[in-house]
Amino acid sequence: MIYKTDAVVLRKNKISEADVILTLFSRKLGKIRAVSKGGRKPKSKLSPASHIFVFGEFIVVRGRNLDRISSVDIHESFYKIREDLRKLAYASYFAELCDTVILEGVTNNRLFDTFLKTLSLVTETVEDFELIKLGFQLKLLDYCGLRPELNKCVSCGGLQFKSIRFSTHQGGLICDNCSGIHRFDSVTINGTMLKVMRYILKTDIITISKIKINPAIIVKLNNILDNYIRFHLERKNFKSLEFLNTIKKI
Ligand SMILES: [Zn+2]
Repeated sequence: MIYKTDAVVLRKNKISEADVILTLFSRKLGKIRAVSKGGRKPKSKLSPASHIFVFGEFIVVRGRNLDRISSVDIHESFYKIREDLRKLAYASYFAELCDTVILEGVTNNRLFDTFLKTLSLVTETVEDFELIKLGFQLKLLDYCGLRPELNKCVSCGGLQFKSIRFSTHQGGLICDNCSGIHRFDSVTINGTMLKVMRYILKTDIITISKIKINPAIIVKLNNILDNYIRFHLERKNFKSLEFLNTIKKI
C-alpha cells in the first residue's frame, strides 16, 4: 500500500552509510517513521528531503516492518534554520516537543499548523526567540490536552485571588484558600504573567510573535513553562533544551 501526506521531518537517525530513518510529523497520519533509502548520498533523489525541518508532500510505501519513503515534493526546506546555530537550537527543541507528544496514527492538525508557522517565524526572526518559545510551549500543551487551568483554582474551583499562585504539579492557578496546602508546590506569579499566558492561549502564534512584552516577564514564564513541560510530559530533560541553554550562554 502507498500513502501520500504533507509532513515535516522531526528527526533523522543514521542506520547505514547510505540510509536514514526519518521521523515525520504528518498531517494525515500523525507520527510516521520511514526509511529514506540513499538519503545520506548527495546524488540520491531523496537526499534534499532527508534533513530535519523539511516540509513536503511525502509518498510512503507501507512495509511489513518499516515504511519506506518513495518520493518527496518539497514545499519548504527551511534551510536557513539549519545554517544558524541559534535558530537550529530553538527549532530543534520545538521538533523534540512535537516528537514527544504526537502518536502514530493520531492527527493533531492544530499542532501541525502551529509548528509550521513557528518554523516560518524562526526562519525570519532575528530576535525575540524566547517569546516564540513561550508561545509554542503553551499552544502545544493546549493542543495535546495539557492546557494549564488559568481561570479558576485548579484545586477547588475557587475564584479568590488576592495573591496569584501557580502550581506546576497541580496544573494551574491556586486560590487564596488553597495557598496554604499548596505552599510548597506553587509559586507566586503577577497579574501581567497571568494575562500574557491567557492571551497566548487564545491568539495565533504569528500575532503573538509581534507583541511587545517586558523581557523579564518572558524569562519568568519560560522558567515556569520549562518545568511544567518536564513534569506533565514526564521527561526529566530534553537534549535539545540543554543544547539551547548552552547556546544562550555563548
Ligand atoms: Zn482553591
